[in-house]
Amino acid sequence: MSVDWQQRFGQVCDHVRETALLKSANDVLAWDEQTHLPAAAAEYRAEQMALLCRLVHTRRTNPQLGQWLDELAGSPLAADPHSDTGATIRQLRRQYQRDAKLPLPLVEELTRTAVHAQQVWVEARKTDNYAVFLPWLRKTFDLKREQAEALGYQEHLYDPLLDEFEPEARTVQVGHVLAALRDELVPLVEAVRESGRRPDGSILTRAFPIDRQERLGRRAAECFGFDFRRGRLDVTPHPFCTRLGPHDTRLTTRYHLRLFPSALCGIMHEAGHGLYEQGLPPEHFGLPLGEAVSTGIHESQSLLWEDIVGRSRAFWEYFYPLAQQEFPEALGDVALEDFYFALNEVRPSLIRVEADDTTYNLHILVRWELEQALLLGELTVEDLPAAWNERYRKYLGIQPPHDADGVLQDIHWSAGLVGYFATYALGHLYAAQFFAQARHALGDVDALLRRGDCRPLLDWLRTNIHAHGQRYTADELVRRVTGQPLSHRPLIQRLRAKLALLYGID
Ligand code: ZN
Repeated sequence: MSVDWQQRFGQVCDHVRETALLKSANDVLAWDEQTHLPAAAAEYRAEQMALLCRLVHTRRTNPQLGQWLDELAGSPLAADPHSDTGATIRQLRRQYQRDAKLPLPLVEELTRTAVHAQQVWVEARKTDNYAVFLPWLRKTFDLKREQAEALGYQEHLYDPLLDEFEPEARTVQVGHVLAALRDELVPLVEAVRESGRRPDGSILTRAFPIDRQERLGRRAAECFGFDFRRGRLDVTPHPFCTRLGPHDTRLTTRYHLRLFPSALCGIMHEAGHGLYEQGLPPEHFGLPLGEAVSTGIHESQSLLWEDIVGRSRAFWEYFYPLAQQEFPEALGDVALEDFYFALNEVRPSLIRVEADDTTYNLHILVRWELEQALLLGELTVEDLPAAWNERYRKYLGIQPPHDADGVLQDIHWSAGLVGYFATYALGHLYAAQFFAQARHALGDVDALLRRGDCRPLLDWLRTNIHAHGQRYTADELVRRVTGQPLSHRPLIQRLRAKLALLYGID
């Protein structure tokens, strides 16, 4: 009996599309939970979402799907791994094998532990009590070790955990680039400190009425090219971006009256994620060709708009008069120079989420190094706070007075997200590499930004990155687009150029 490959491929796609429908229904519930849900409704919502998650998992691990994908992998449709069918089969098979390798009891134990560990973490952070969190952290890393073993690896125990967020990335290779980045950043931050220059940061903590912040934030997102006919902006305590369907991308933010960049840069960041989501081919929604490459590539799109465009001198030459119009009391008497310096201040701080784009990756390096040491058993959870503080002293020249502002500050480990932190650093690296290439292709990007014309840059990103979905891995994509492998150099060059002007260093 001969198989009609096209028909089989169609069956697989139908199955996956239906799973995506179910998954997107869950995403609507999750978005609503984060934005509008009354507190008393949380328990029933958790049940709704748990059921949908179970159904999605069952469909994704359906042995029939695995069998079809195995057959298709040997068919002519898979011969070219970058063709529509080849890329789809390759990615779906990869996802299937990953899901199927994890025994259900382990998956459930990971979920249960994450729920408990997060509750304990919230309390531990509030009361600055690492000791109560310690047993949960130990358990989390024990389970992650078990998960890594179950998924299997060739080079490094950390590989399968990194792979969850950055498919096909290798710990050793990423580690070389991040170490090179660290060795350039530490002296750069030191030079900034020694320059003795400081902007007037109080400019950004004047009163900025929230309704005007929202209006200006929308204006920035629109200027970048975010399509509000296919998206929304809402308020949430923990900002994120999510796509609920092929034409429905939701941005969220939070506003502080006296912290101007928080919401505006937050909106620029989420709009960057949103532009990527809106640029993925809608006809492939839920299928690999309609999905983001990796968490790191996703982050590169948010950071390109937030840090590279949204904090650039050129963009603010266009945007600053609009900001002054919205906030005449706060900014009317502030020169663009002073505002721009305040917005780009480099200052080593204890808290990752408040860090500037120069010191940020040193926060990531601390976590990247420590979570591997914990996973490999080279570091015990008992010794973690001391190791954390020592690295902060070495890399950033400061030391947390409390664990609450140190090792307890991030939600990730309590949520079982081991392998995630690296994607933030990868996002910075890819963003700088892509932007350097866009500059090369488009010529004077600054001249465009000075007019508020972001269209050519967005079109370039659409064509070179968004339109491909998962056709290429992150590594293939960055080589294809820039002609170079992952590198720390474009990021360092960009930061050096910026800081030379602001701080008078070279
Ligand atoms: Zn992000």
